[in-house]
Amino acid sequence: MKQSLLFVPTMKEAPKDAEVKSHRLMSRAGLMKQTASGIYTYLPLGQKVMNHIESIIREEHDAIGASELLMPAMQPKDLWEESGRWYEYGPELVRFEDRKEREFCLGPTHEEVITAVVRDHIDSYKKLPLALYQIQTKFRDELRPRFGLMRGREFVMKDLYTFSESEEDLDYWYEVSKKTYRKIFNRIGLDTKIVASDTGQIGGKVAHEFMVMSEVGEDTTVFCDTCEYAANKEFAGLSSGDACPNCNEGTIQEAKGIEVGNIFKLGTKYSESMNAYFTDRDGLRKPLIMGCYGLGVSRTLMAAVEQHSDENSILWPESITPFHLHVLPLKMNDDVALQMANDIHDALLKTHSVLIDDRDERPGVKFKDADLIGIPYRVIVGKDAKDGKVEYINRYTGEKSVIDKDELIAKFSG
Ligand code: ATP
Ligand code: MG
Repeated sequence: MKQSLLFVPTMKEAPKDAEVKSHRLMSRAGLMKQTASGIYTYLPLGQKVMNHIESIIREEHDAIGASELLMPAMQPKDLWEESGRWYEYGPELVRFEDRKEREFCLGPTHEEVITAVVRDHIDSYKKLPLALYQIQTKFRDELRPRFGLMRGREFVMKDLYTFSESEEDLDYWYEVSKKTYRKIFNRIGLDTKIVASDTGQIGGKVAHEFMVMSEVGEDTTVFCDTCEYAANKEFAGLSSGDACPNCNEGTIQEAKGIEVGNIFKLGTKYSESMNAYFTDRDGLRKPLIMGCYGLGVSRTLMAAVEQHSDENSILWPESITPFHLHVLPLKMNDDVALQMANDIHDALLKTHSVLIDDRDERPGVKFKDADLIGIPYRVIVGKDAKDGKVEYINRYTGEKSVIDKDELIAKFSG
């Protein structure tokens, strides 16, 4: 791909309201652009990373037998009246009327819609369990949108919903989803802690959050220095120095975290209020037993930038990098170097995603932008091109070498 054709509007300065590093970097690297407060455009590079994250999410959800669907963002008031949340949900819910003065909201979450979709078709235990997910834009008119994609008013979420005939089956899906989330975050290169949390607005009995430990996180996690115990501070009411309530031996510590996922055992809250019943093995009518599992896709992108960067550069994990190789011909009027850079681009394109910086810019500008953009493997084609050589940098290891063009191609083709 030619960088001159890719729209990557890098900037020297970050927007004034960018308080955290990832927000500054995402703006400066031309990954996203603010359209209104808490509302962003994903620019081509950012969208590429989003697509990679979404692919990983899809692969791992398909692997557990969940199927993807897509529900509407525009949701009728009557469904939210059935669940009771039209009145419980505060001003975060974006409400409006259509031209016939019927009331709607823009979905901040989809328990109502999914329950309404499923209830007409699942009448027997024979059709259970069911696991349905979507990757979709959510709307929440947050009081304080901030930190870019971290707390947006419009953001991308993956939401999975499970329907079970028994508590045991719900427990099974809950554990499967926990493992799946762990896998997803590992693949994205994010270390997460699973913490017990409150069920809040969504309701239900048991909930856990997935936290990426980070100073810029809005949540505080309390955890034991000896056993596995970890909880959201708000939920646990513990402070650092307290004795661990789980093992009684360890001491509680505190750390800030970014909540990238939240899973809930909903039980029958929505199936009862919205009349989603099935006939069980004994012929009895029972409400479906539900679980819901949210993963903040755009917030995860932001957390990945926060963890894999310093103030002036990103270094993408291989699994989500927008391109694998960045080829930098340093002078566009050096025909030999340019030809070589193009040859490398063309040869490696078969097996890798390659970006070539074909812009007529000074080397200093190219290097600065390359650091910002964060592609892990870099090939610099400069004055050694006349001897058939390029400089190769592996940004993960810091390893630099001057090697033959053919050797480089072989290295990546092998
Ligand atoms: P928070 O406490 O951060 O407001 P929440 O408990 O309201 O989150 P859920 O309703 O469980 O979040 O949504 C599932 C996931 O969606 C969250 O774990 C988070 O990663 C993401 N998310 C929630 N609100 C936002 C937002 N305003 N902007 C970006 N991502 C969000
Ligand atoms: Mg919230």
